[in-house]
Amino acid sequence: FFLVFEGGDGAGKTTQLTALRQALADTGREIVVTREPGGTPVGQAIRDVLLHGEHVAPRAEALLFAADRAHHVATVVRPALERDAIVLQDRYLDSSIAYQGAGRALEADDVRGLSLWGTQGLLPDLTVLLDVPAGTGRERRGEVHDRLEREADDFHGRVREHFLALAAAEPQRYLVLDATRAADDLAKDIEAAVRERLT
Ligand code: C5P
Ligand code: MG
Repeated sequence: FFLVFEGGDGAGKTTQLTALRQALADTGREIVVTREPGGTPVGQAIRDVLLHGEHVAPRAEALLFAADRAHHVATVVRPALERDAIVLQDRYLDSSIAYQGAGRALEADDVRGLSLWGTQGLLPDLTVLLDVPAGTGRERRGEVHDRLEREADDFHGRVREHFLALAAAEPQRYLVLDATRAADDLAKDIEAAVRERLT
């Protein structure tokens, strides 16, 4: 079972992912927690270039995220799914469509195609979209840690709208939650939705 958390910076993806890992411990199933970019050693190197290096041209940035994803899916995610593990992942291709597509104004279909080529078409069983206004995300992030977090609210606002549009186009594959709600409440909703799909 492949579950992905998506949403803007500061939406609380990592918090919810950690809570869900604990909540699902009683299923007895193997749980793999992973993230993009940087879920592998190769990915870590790519992450470092993307977040802590100098400016990367938009198309090169899209290719680097896609390369990270291709390697991650081939070496971590697919093998885990073949073992019947539950994979809980922080970000996947929707992040690329939203950030490199809408954020950087590349063609969203191109960005999606790049990612699907890289992953040989792997899609999540369920995507939890933690929806947060750009301003709230910025306040929650607090101190800026990387180059991409430094983008203006306007950039993060476009990213947010694109995430919502992706979810609206395929409602059966998304759980959209208002991430300004209390973390405990969100965790309960997420756990219920996942348990329903696991049985
Ligand atoms: O979620 P995380 O903090 O690990 O993401 C690192 C940075 O990369 C964030 O600033 C996020 O906005 C950005 N990012 C991106 N495109 C992606 C994935 C992440 O711009 N496909
Ligand atoms: Mg971050």
